[in-house]
Amino acid sequence: MKSLLIQGGHIIDPSQGIDEIGSLLITEDKISWLGKGKTTPPQPDYDTLQAQGLIVCPGFIDLHCHLRQPGFEEKETIATGTRAAARGGFTTICCMPNTNPPLDNQATVGYVKSTAVTEGMVRVLPIGCISKGRKGQELAEMGELASAGVIACSDDSEPAMNSYLMRQALDYSRTFGLPIIDHCEDKVLTEGGQMNDGIISTRLGLRGIPAAAEEIIVARDLALAELTGGRLHIAHASTEGSVDLIRRAKEKGIRVTAEVTPHHLTLTEEKVIGYDTNAKVNPPLRTKRDIQALIQGLKEGVIDIIATDHAPHTEADKRCEFDVAAFGISGFETALGSLMSLVHDGQLTLATLIARLTYEPSKIIGNKYGKLGTLGIGVSADVTIFDPDLDWIVDTRAFASKGKNTPLAGSVLKGKVMATISQGKLVYKDDLLSLSKEKV
Ligand SMILES: [Zn+2]
Ligand SMILES: [Zn+2]
Repeated sequence: MKSLLIQGGHIIDPSQGIDEIGSLLITEDKISWLGKGKTTPPQPDYDTLQAQGLIVCPGFIDLHCHLRQPGFEEKETIATGTRAAARGGFTTICCMPNTNPPLDNQATVGYVKSTAVTEGMVRVLPIGCISKGRKGQELAEMGELASAGVIACSDDSEPAMNSYLMRQALDYSRTFGLPIIDHCEDKVLTEGGQMNDGIISTRLGLRGIPAAAEEIIVARDLALAELTGGRLHIAHASTEGSVDLIRRAKEKGIRVTAEVTPHHLTLTEEKVIGYDTNAKVNPPLRTKRDIQALIQGLKEGVIDIIATDHAPHTEADKRCEFDVAAFGISGFETALGSLMSLVHDGQLTLATLIARLTYEPSKIIGNKYGKLGTLGIGVSADVTIFDPDLDWIVDTRAFASKGKNTPLAGSVLKGKVMATISQGKLVYKDDLLSLSKEKV
């Protein structure tokens, strides 16, 4: 296989503290050389991707997505989901176990892993269940799941409402070195809830989901993490109160990490006015005040990472009354464009944004699958190249994902992925980017 030179881009790699113009050489499936400024590699024979004016960084890592296979292939498959991920700049994605059958045993985890190898475009790392059948009653065989290669356990879309079960899971998380990811929602409080609880929900006549429903379970989980010394990861934090609770827990030394989604960082509950079911998501879109707290948390590192919670649905799941529409946003292909608005507004630096999408999630996953989230020499060549300033219109017909469900359809985003390289393979390239094949 010929080498590929990514030439003259602005290389940002928070894992090595690199933030300057340079070039990167990929040989076979590894990063083989990195040169600063205008230096060229010692070896002469390579194809070239011209990256002048573009950002070159480690491939994005998504700790939270839904690929729907097995069981819900009408919504998404591993093939379509990983293609969408590649278009979004993601080279490693961790899929939630709420499939049918759920990923609560070695066989189904093995099925997802082998399907990802044969049909996938990017690396897929499965997450196993906390409870058998995601029923919230009996602990899944975490030892079996750990040896099957899951990188965490979660009953996502369901919280582990049974506190004793959550305590057990956190106890075992120490034994098996697996974080427990919780979808924090007090189901009793959210029964029938459709959107954020407040003036807008009252005006629209939709039942509200209060911030407290999330914060009660975040607080409980933090108490249990303290009690057990287990590793807790809070999925999709969406409220100011959650950020405060996590901040205080970290100050106390509790082993907790947390994520926030692009939509909770950029969209408010006002998106629901007009009953757009594509803005129906769980946890719901909140207020400006919550967004400010989440951004502040992300800056400080109280919130460790950004994860998409890519949740594709069919048109039928969304083209219906608001009350019966499914929760979720198809997020891979708009993630970078949405998040860049925070950089353009001066709320987040590019280096912080990239760290929260690359190096920080790699620390949560660990080295089970080799070094991730870095452009270090000798590591798997997972690279994302993007134009920070390019305006583009979100056209869901062009999505690789089967899920066209996004409240951003038709809007203009500034910042676009131009190429994605996963394990040395060019898995996505925008037509605007030229690949020169001639000898240099
Ligand atoms: Zn969830
Ligand atoms: Zn989810």
